[in-house]
Amino acid sequence: MKCRQEVESFDVVVIGAGPGGTTVASYLIRAGLTVLLLEKQSFPRFHVGESLTGVAAEIIADFNLTDTVNSYDFPVKGGVKVIGKGAKNEFFVPVMRSTWQVRRAEFDRILLTHAKSQGVTYRQGHVKSVLKTGERVTGLTYGILEETDEGTRHVVTKTVHCQVVVDASGQSTVLSKLGVAGPRKKSDQFNNDVAVFAHYQGVERDPGTMGDNTFIFYSHIHHWSWFIPITSDKVSVGCVLPKNRLVQCGSPEETMNWGLENINPELKRRMHGHTPMGKVHVISNYSYEVRPFAGEGWICIGDSHQFIDPILSFGVSMAMSDARAASEAILQSLASGSFQAPFLKYCRRSETGQRTAHEIISYFWKYPTFFGYQMRGKLRQDIIRLLSGDIFQPEQFEAIKLIRQGLSSANDQVKAA
Ligand code: FAD
Repeated sequence: MKCRQEVESFDVVVIGAGPGGTTVASYLIRAGLTVLLLEKQSFPRFHVGESLTGVAAEIIADFNLTDTVNSYDFPVKGGVKVIGKGAKNEFFVPVMRSTWQVRRAEFDRILLTHAKSQGVTYRQGHVKSVLKTGERVTGLTYGILEETDEGTRHVVTKTVHCQVVVDASGQSTVLSKLGVAGPRKKSDQFNNDVAVFAHYQGVERDPGTMGDNTFIFYSHIHHWSWFIPITSDKVSVGCVLPKNRLVQCGSPEETMNWGLENINPELKRRMHGHTPMGKVHVISNYSYEVRPFAGEGWICIGDSHQFIDPILSFGVSMAMSDARAASEAILQSLASGSFQAPFLKYCRRSETGQRTAHEIISYFWKYPTFFGYQMRGKLRQDIIRLLSGDIFQPEQFEAIKLIRQGLSSANDQVKAA
């Protein structure tokens, strides 16, 4: 291995080419900045997180990519069907705007191809460290594989200077690990969960367009499953269970079998006799937050600063929505010469959305039938909007007031006990 130093300069450097990174890069290049996008993996690559909300579809439309995404034959998602404990009740929540169930390898590559076509400089490089002048982040170093004239490959360390570093590194939480952003704090409520997931072929779906929707099967908190169609005959199925179930079962495959057998009888019926199409993936410790997540010359978006729980399928949309808001904050900062006010506004918005999502999820697990009941009642429109990702101005919703009251009285009861 041989290392040498080269220095270049961009307005913004983005770490990670997931949906957050490519979206922020595309917005910034559109505004006339120079952008370097660094990604450590070779694309296309597998990624969990296949069900989108209308928020992602809105940004796709803003990039004029709707026809491109449609040409991939991703199932069109019209909503989410929730099938309750023992399959004794169910309800359906439509989306506000038609969206897709995507194969992430292809979806992320569509966004990356778009970013590159707009002028974003892209390199497959692994970010290693940040450069600082006092408290301000002014660049970073990354390792990149290069080939010599003789055909040998070696890692070259490159240095890049910039005005802003955007961390879009997902669960790698690069700026937190490098001590720039705050430490990664585990979620109190969902940190003991593990998710096991795989793709299956030929599994029974509902007839017609209903079969293209997301299905959530549950029995009780920490025991639920997603069922997301990703082609006309393949579904992504995942089971979320307490971590000790993985220890008891001994392998991801056995944990998956246990979940399919025990979470919900309707899931069991549909999955009977089916085997995964490849590896059963496993992921744990995915619920956390990083505070602070923006500062002088740096800002975190998407999973690089927070992820709660996948049940609402908000992850990709949150990353893309953070990306759009962060690009506005960066442009305002560079125009005004100060990061403070624009980055504070960005952080408040993102925290509000994450807090609302957390409240919805917590309430769902305390009173799971509330949402089905309200879908037939006067709060139907509130529930549809909230579960579609309209979570940044929660005070406008009567449903959120009820949810907050319910959570607060449940907390009071716990304290009194
Ligand atoms: P990512 O998509 O993770 O992209 C980060 C990129 O950064 C990666 O490509 C990575 O290789 C790169 N990177 C990391 N470190 C470095 C480095 N040092 N240098 C360079 N590059 C680096 N979301 C949904 O919307 N719908 C779902 O149905 C859904 N289901 C989920 C199920 C589970 C079990 C989990 C855990 C999550 C789920 N999510 C879902 C969440 C979703 O996967 C994420 O929220 C989403 O991918 C976040 O996007 P991102 O751009 O922030 O990060």
